[in-house]
Amino acid sequence: MTDATSPAASARPTTSRSVLVTGGNRGIGLAVARRLQGDGHQVAVTHRGSGVPDGLFGVVCDVTDTDSVDRAFKEVEDHQGPVEVLVANAGITDDTLLMRMTEDQFTTVVDANLTGAFRCAKRANRAMLRGRWGRMIFLGSVVGLAGQAGQINYASSKAGVIGLARSVTRELGSRSITANVVAPGFIETDMTAELSDDVRDTAKKFIPLQRLGRPEDVAAVVSFLASDDSAYVSGAVIPVDGGLGMGH
Ligand code: NDP
Repeated sequence: MTDATSPAASARPTTSRSVLVTGGNRGIGLAVARRLQGDGHQVAVTHRGSGVPDGLFGVVCDVTDTDSVDRAFKEVEDHQGPVEVLVANAGITDDTLLMRMTEDQFTTVVDANLTGAFRCAKRANRAMLRGRWGRMIFLGSVVGLAGQAGQINYASSKAGVIGLARSVTRELGSRSITANVVAPGFIETDMTAELSDDVRDTAKKFIPLQRLGRPEDVAAVVSFLASDDSAYVSGAVIPVDGGLGMGH
């Protein structure tokens, strides 16, 4: 049991916000949605037809389609009011070396990860401006700064969201709208499940904390960025990588 003066209570958000998490049906997005719901926010998540776990409000949305993004935002607005906190989490990989990567593989990943984040930020921007308050939280990656062989498309898209968040900060900061990037390292989700044991063991050797991350590790940082406590944090890239990316 905590009271209003305990550290746990003071870390809770003071205001319940209308939140949209793209790709919140599984993986990191789901952990973020659950955490923000636990923080007391009203949380909607997007899915692409798979449905969403019990207890969450789901809307169908493909972030590569502007009309689909618009429809999803409208549904969320009708259900819980204008989106005040956007978590642009939806993302894909399609790894191969530069010599084999087709232009289509490059643009498809950039379209989902970077242009998709742009579409959502653009759609969220209107209501945030009207409300003179907003939080845009983008899922980047340790490879957005460090680069990664075999991930030229993915790393480029994740580097791009940093420019997106920092430019939003400069454009909209005066209206109390912040934009930040959370940059995970190796997190245990479907995205990393396909990695071989060899790759995972090698990865651990380079991670000072010597373990892969959990979706909840990322959700905790998103929770802070969505809260009133982060009011003066914008344009930041916050690693959640067990120290893997130190120095970038
Ligand atoms: P998952 O592969 O587990 O989940 C990806 C999510 O994105 C799913 O909900 C998926 O929906 C959704 N999605 C993909 N494409 C689209 C689209 N076009 N429109 C709407 N939704 C889409 O990924 P993670 O949970 O691991 O990753 C979440 C985010 O974190 C991503 O941006 C990823 O790049 C980033 N990240 C992850 C790391 C990791 O180690 N796992 C490390 C660094 C960054 P659906 O279920 O319909 O496919």
